[in-house]
Amino acid sequence: MEFQTKLIHGNWKPDAQTGATNVPMYFSNAYAHTTAKELENIFAGRDMGYVYARISNPSVEAFENRIASLEGGIAAVAAASGMAAIYLALMNILKPGNHVVASAGLFGGTFNLLKNLKQQEINVTFLEEMNQESLKNAITDQTKIVFAETIGNPKLDVLDLEEIGKVCEEHRIIFMVDSTITTPYLVKPLEYGADIVIHSTSKYMNGTSNALGGVIIDGGSKKYENERYLDFKDFTKRYRRFAFTAKLRSGIGRDLGAILSPMSSFLHLTGLETLALRMREHCKNAITLAQYLESHPKIVSVQYPSLKSSKYYETAKKYYPDGASGILTCRLGSKEKAFALIDHVKLFANLANIGDTKSLILHPASTICIHNTLEEKEQMGVYEDLVRISVGIEDSKDIISDIEQALHKI
Ligand SMILES: *Cc1c(COP(=O)(O)O)cnc(C)c1O
Repeated sequence: MEFQTKLIHGNWKPDAQTGATNVPMYFSNAYAHTTAKELENIFAGRDMGYVYARISNPSVEAFENRIASLEGGIAAVAAASGMAAIYLALMNILKPGNHVVASAGLFGGTFNLLKNLKQQEINVTFLEEMNQESLKNAITDQTKIVFAETIGNPKLDVLDLEEIGKVCEEHRIIFMVDSTITTPYLVKPLEYGADIVIHSTSKYMNGTSNALGGVIIDGGSKKYENERYLDFKDFTKRYRRFAFTAKLRSGIGRDLGAILSPMSSFLHLTGLETLALRMREHCKNAITLAQYLESHPKIVSVQYPSLKSSKYYETAKKYYPDGASGILTCRLGSKEKAFALIDHVKLFANLANIGDTKSLILHPASTICIHNTLEEKEQMGVYEDLVRISVGIEDSKDIISDIEQALHKI
């Protein structure tokens, strides 16, 4: 199946019992079995089956299977939010004494999560620019994960997946990629050497911001078999390429219980069907707005990777020839002017979110990054005069005329 067909039909057939064309919602915490032996066999791992919804639920499973098919993974595990997915994926591998290398241009929540791993004696090296050289220099014997975003939010630095994938392959280190901004419509990181892909499905996947969620896609890496990952020994022996997912499902995933609800799975599955259509519009509107802003005298600078003026233009062209998603940032020269733009727009909603069909605007320095130090903000590409825009799929004429009238008032 091609991508757009998979969005609608991937890994699921109409319900055999009823013919329902949408995945039925199973609002049941537990599942009854006729004999004690039957339940024993499921608990012992000899048979497949449902026992309790913290472990598995058919509605959630349908969502996981669809995402796995979209990313080209061997399995996927859904979580209650993007943050839950990131935490679960990291802690399925890490223990005290370990080390992570991460790009600095990360989503604020992830940046803080990684920083706080210090409390568990896990050290993180943040690279202001993640490239082959800086990565090689940062890797130690204890490095278990290289973590990056396809396009940093809100720094909008574009990761050269293939180059980083090569270094991770050479050193046999797990390469974990947050592809929330780009979605599998724009890029499939597993094809470029990533081992694990993570999404906050609260954003573009869901599309209309009506449910939180996260998902971890397992690329079926063989790296867990090498000495760096001794804790995986039993799992690689028994589950082979499914070692990561098996360890997650029988370990921290079950222990923490940060599961996606069946209702959220349903809302995500509904949103996913239009992902390709929406992403095309997001990209088209983003480049149109970016070009408009770049030509406006009141705008000091615009960052959108598909702009020729962007430092990341070449990398963006390689991975995102059809447009680098729907997020852009611009600088206005002062915090007052940035605030004035936000206060004068009418169509845009001033809120902390991205990836909605609606156009959104935010001043990151005083909101999502308010608790970060000045130095950290700079590492994250956040400045006092910077505004982040998540371009929606409204008519681009309305988007631009709204920005135009707001800029006029500054
Ligand atoms: C929003 C976001 C997250 C966190 O996801 P939640 O669903 O809000 O927990 C992680 N990474 C990126 C890139 C995000 O934009």
